[in-house]
Parts: sequence; structure tokens; C-alpha cells
Amino acid sequence: MPAKTMESLVNLCKRRGFIFQGSDIYGGLQGVYDYGPLGVELKNNLKAAWWRAMVYERDDIEGLDAAILTHKSVLKHSGHEATFSDPMVDCRKCKSRWRADQIKDGKCEKCGSSDLTEPRPFNLMFKTNVGPVTDGDHFAYLRPETAQGIFCNFKNVLDSTSPKIPFGIAQIGKSFRNEITPKNFIFRVREFEQMELEFFVQPGTDDEWHSKWVAARVNWWKAQGLESDNLQQYAQKKEELAHYAKATVDILYRFPHGMEELEGVSDRTDFDLGSHSKDPQELGLKAKVEENKDSVVKLTAPDPVTQKPLVPYVIEPSAGVDRGVLAVLTEAYTEEKLENGTERIVLKLKPHLSPIKVAVIPLARNKPEIVAKAKEIKDALLKLGIGRIYYESSGNIGKSYRRHDEVGTPLCVTVDFDTIGKGETPDQAGTVTIRDRDTMKQVRVHADKLAEHIAGFFRDAR
Ligand code: ATP
Repeated sequence: MPAKTMESLVNLCKRRGFIFQGSDIYGGLQGVYDYGPLGVELKNNLKAAWWRAMVYERDDIEGLDAAILTHKSVLKHSGHEATFSDPMVDCRKCKSRWRADQIKDGKCEKCGSSDLTEPRPFNLMFKTNVGPVTDGDHFAYLRPETAQGIFCNFKNVLDSTSPKIPFGIAQIGKSFRNEITPKNFIFRVREFEQMELEFFVQPGTDDEWHSKWVAARVNWWKAQGLESDNLQQYAQKKEELAHYAKATVDILYRFPHGMEELEGVSDRTDFDLGSHSKDPQELGLKAKVEENKDSVVKLTAPDPVTQKPLVPYVIEPSAGVDRGVLAVLTEAYTEEKLENGTERIVLKLKPHLSPIKVAVIPLARNKPEIVAKAKEIKDALLKLGIGRIYYESSGNIGKSYRRHDEVGTPLCVTVDFDTIGKGETPDQAGTVTIRDRDTMKQVRVHADKLAEHIAGFFRDAR
């Protein structure tokens, strides 16, 4: 079994430029991470795969990009002001603060003292001042979930694109939670990204849609390379449900620190649209939705049968981008012993997620003809539109292969004397070598056929 410790992943991420501690040069800001040159590519590729599956491959979902700064009334009526909190305890001895449900054996994790306060609710939302007046009243929240931006734009999307129930609105963006104990690298952080879909359905069909979305989301994670054995589903118990949910199924992944939530798929009923609607009682909504005097609209859509205004139920698959990145890195990280007794680290990422798709390596850096040919090949491959093509100029072929194995580059193309027709094997004139990351097998392909070959590889790998 390959060693998949969090430490080995953290080391690789720092060494190869995937993920760095936020504000690192000032000692770091806890629970905040920055994505480096390769991390940003991997993260963008994961988000692009989600967007493609949600928006491009379907005809019943539209995209949205709502603002992070959110009016306090939104988060009052969504219930987050009152209930978005974790119970926390303080250690009276060393003054550290912990999540009550994560305390082991009633002892402080830092100093071991049992002298802890009773649990108290701690609201996880970040506030920020808006405008020049700092009287404590002129503030907005940094959104704790992207979902509310979708509910607030429900009518705008409906009026501008005229979808029919069932339909969805998808969004990817940053969320902020003042987690009491951020930990486990990018698993629990204070600033993170979510990929959220709100899928609006007719009440009564919600159970069926809930099951469909759980299955669809598990399949999508498998298509990102996660093994079935490392995925589990967990149906939350009644007492564990968030204030808005009728049912939630968590999709868990075997992270290096344990089997934990990667995505939650909730049935949020009509709770949010009802809460944000003016006079929700008039719409015949449940008593749990308090009357809303702040809102100016009623958030309804035509009933597909009667055409009367209807507040749809909503199914929400909500995935963390950062947890997704950690999951695909965990799955891909492999330490291999080779036949010649050496070892290599290889990131067996699905090609569509790889930060670099192809590395083009000139075998002799000081031969202008070879360098020019390698650059010409890089430019030609770039035109395929498959992602980043990297001109690798380290000059050492062994080191280049090792580096590209470690960052998950599926293919390396080397340009040598044969490519420019000056090699010792005339029958190979005009050819390049393609090396496969996983099998390490090499094939020679004519440079004229290279783009076709590479395009085929990435098409088949999807
Ligand atoms: P947890 O129980 O782990 O705190 P949650 O149930 O509060 O998570 P949700 O509110 O369901 O999480 O958010 C949906 C998704 O957003 C989660 O499945 C996770 O992938 C991601 N997420 C939530 N909180 C964080 C965080 N602090 N850091 C990174 N990702 C997060």
C-alpha cells in the first residue's frame, strides 16, 4: 500500500508548488491556504469538470456568480444569524478554545486540563464593516455558504431565462466560516470554495430527486478518480440535520485523517425560498418560516401542471472545492518501487485534472534547432485547447520525468536529434518520443501526427 499520510501530501504540495500556508512570510494565518502555480491549475480543472457536468451537459441548469458580501437581512431570514453556530468550550487553564463535539475524554487538547467551561454557541459568520461609518450597525457578512446568493437571485434567473420546474442554479465561489479549530490541512479552513447546486422541484417529488442527486454526485466523484472503496454515504440522523434540512446524505471520503464529509446532499424543502419571500404565510408555507417584513418579493415559480404560483422544494448537492482537491490528491498520490530497485512518487491524477497536460522536453538545450522544434511543438499542442502545455527546459531528462511524475503530468514529449532528422536512426527522422506517466512506456510518433495522437489520448481519458 502506498504511504498516504497527510504529511507526505503536505510536503509534496509545498515542494512542487500546489498549496502554501496563507500569509506564510509572516508566520502564517491559521485556517487559510494559498494555491500555488500547480494548485491553481488543479483546482480550476476540478471546478471546470463540475461546471461542465452541471451546466454544459444538462439543459435544466443555469450558472450564477453572486457576490460574497451579503446583506445582513439575507442571513437573518435564512436562519444563519440565529443558528449558524458550533458549541464551543474554553479551557480555563490555557485559555484555548475548542469545538465541544471534538473534545476527547473531557480534556483540553493543548494542556490536558479538565477545567473546561460549559459549551456555548459560537456564531461562525465573519462580519465586515461596509462604508465609512463604523458604528457597529453598518456591516455585511462574508457569506458562510454560496447557496443564499442563489435563493436571492431566484426571481432574477427565473425572469431572465424562463426555466420550467424542475430546474437548477449552479454556483462556484468562496465561502467563509470562522471555524473554532481549523485543521487537517485544507480539509477544515476558514476561507474555502464551494460548488453548490440548488435544484428546484415540485413538492412531493423531492425524495426521488434527492436520491437521484446523491447517486449522480457519487458517480461524478468516481469520474474524478475516487475509488468506490474510499467513498461512503451517511444519512444524517434527525438530531444532526441543519436547521433548514428535511434530510441530508453526506458523501464521505477516506481522507488521510479518516472517513469524513466531502459533500452534503440536502433536501432543504421550501425553507429558504419561503423565508426570503414577503408574507410567506400567504403562500401557505409551513409555520416554521417566520413572516418576512424585510423582503420585497414572493419567490415562486409556475406550477408545471396548474400554472399557479408555487414555492418549489430544493435539493442541494454542496461540495467543497478544497476538500475535493485534497481527495483527488490523496487518491492519486502513489509511491512505487521500480524494477531497477529505485522508487518514484507519482500522482496518478485523471488527465483532465492534471495541472500540466503535456511537458515538451528538448533533449539538448544548447542545440537551437532542437529548441526551436520543441517550442513549435508546444505551440501546436497549445492550440488543442486541452490546458497547460509546459516547455520543460531543465535539460536533464531523468529529473524532468521525475518532476512530471510527481506533479501528475500524463504525457512527456521529448524532442531529440531524430526529430530534426540528425539522429543515428534515419528511419526515425521526424519523430518524437511520448512517455506515459503511469506505465512509463515510450512510443515514437511522427511529429506531424503528434497533435492528433495527444488529442485522442485526452478524449479517450475522459
Ligand atoms: P462539517 O460538518 O465538516 O463542518 P458541514 O456539514 O458544516 O461540514 P456544509 O455546510 O454541508 O458542511 O457545507 C458543504 C460542503 O462545504 C462540505 O461538504 C465541505 O465540503 C465544504 N466545507 C464546509 N465547511 C468547510 C470548511 N470549514 N473548510 C473546507 N470546506 C468546508
